[in-house]
Amino acid sequence: MGSSKIDLDDLDLACDAVQDATNLAIAARRELPPEAIVRKADGSVVTAVDVALQVLILSRLEMDFGPVPTIAEEDLASIGGKPAAEAHCRRLLASWGYEGGEAGIQRALTSGGLDASTRGVEFAWVLDPIDGTQGFIDGDHWCPCLALLRRGEVIFASNGYPTVLGGMLLSAAKGKGAWWHPLVGGESTRAEVSQAALAPHEPVRVVAPARATPSQVRARTEVGLATGHACELVDSDSQAKYGHVIAGLADVAYSRRGGGPGKYIWDHAGAVLLAREAGAWVGDTDGSDIDCSLGRRLGRNDAVICAARGLGPVIAAELAARDRAEGFGRHARADT
Ligand SMILES: [Mg+2]
Repeated sequence: MGSSKIDLDDLDLACDAVQDATNLAIAARRELPPEAIVRKADGSVVTAVDVALQVLILSRLEMDFGPVPTIAEEDLASIGGKPAAEAHCRRLLASWGYEGGEAGIQRALTSGGLDASTRGVEFAWVLDPIDGTQGFIDGDHWCPCLALLRRGEVIFASNGYPTVLGGMLLSAAKGKGAWWHPLVGGESTRAEVSQAALAPHEPVRVVAPARATPSQVRARTEVGLATGHACELVDSDSQAKYGHVIAGLADVAYSRRGGGPGKYIWDHAGAVLLAREAGAWVGDTDGSDIDCSLGRRLGRNDAVICAARGLGPVIAAELAARDRAEGFGRHARADT
């Protein structure tokens, strides 16, 4: 592994692939039959659109960049054995002009299984064709997410944000800023996260899941109050939650590991670069970086925190204190 070459000047092609896929998904969700929505073995929800989009995006990336090791969320098991969902997936691909045939579909659904450290891998794609599938079904937030790792570091990302700022693609290459592009086409504008401190009377806006449980609402409110400001919750899931901070629609979004095995990389990797390139504070509870080099999980991090308005350190300290109080985090793990 590691021999793949990617010409970084060609990454606009990857942005185009995500933009086209997002627009196709917007249309596909308007005619989403119930039989196209199924459960995976782990109980999570997936649709025929998720799978068709992965096939489309990975096929285009392979055409434009050649074979590149890939970490992708979907695989043959995602909707396998659900004939009505599989048929809808094939219908979508045909209507999108997909010409890779069954062999191409099989390849796109077996090529995303990279499951090892990427530190020694020159380039690797990270794809979640639809992050926030429940939001996609419900008409809430969702987000096709593509990132490119170079030796385990995110150096490029392109996320489709159909529900943010009227429908945007947000893309970034390391060191070159993050840029909004309207999904319908038009002028690009630089994404710039506000650094202005909250005024004393101003509430802090913290992102919470659309289907937040009472305890999630309570926790996020308390974390917001730890800034010394009143707290308003803003509903969003998926990488759209980070998009809200980048767009100035919220001040803080975070995802805690808790007692779990580490978050999936495809739910966070792109946003880490996008937010940072836009000027947001991005890091873990101790201020350290998010380690995206471990394969499919962020196994070394206790949280992914994204904050505007200089709020990163106070939020990180509050989440670290909560990890300690609840017996989570790296110190708890080191003790056991
Ligand atoms: Mg997904």
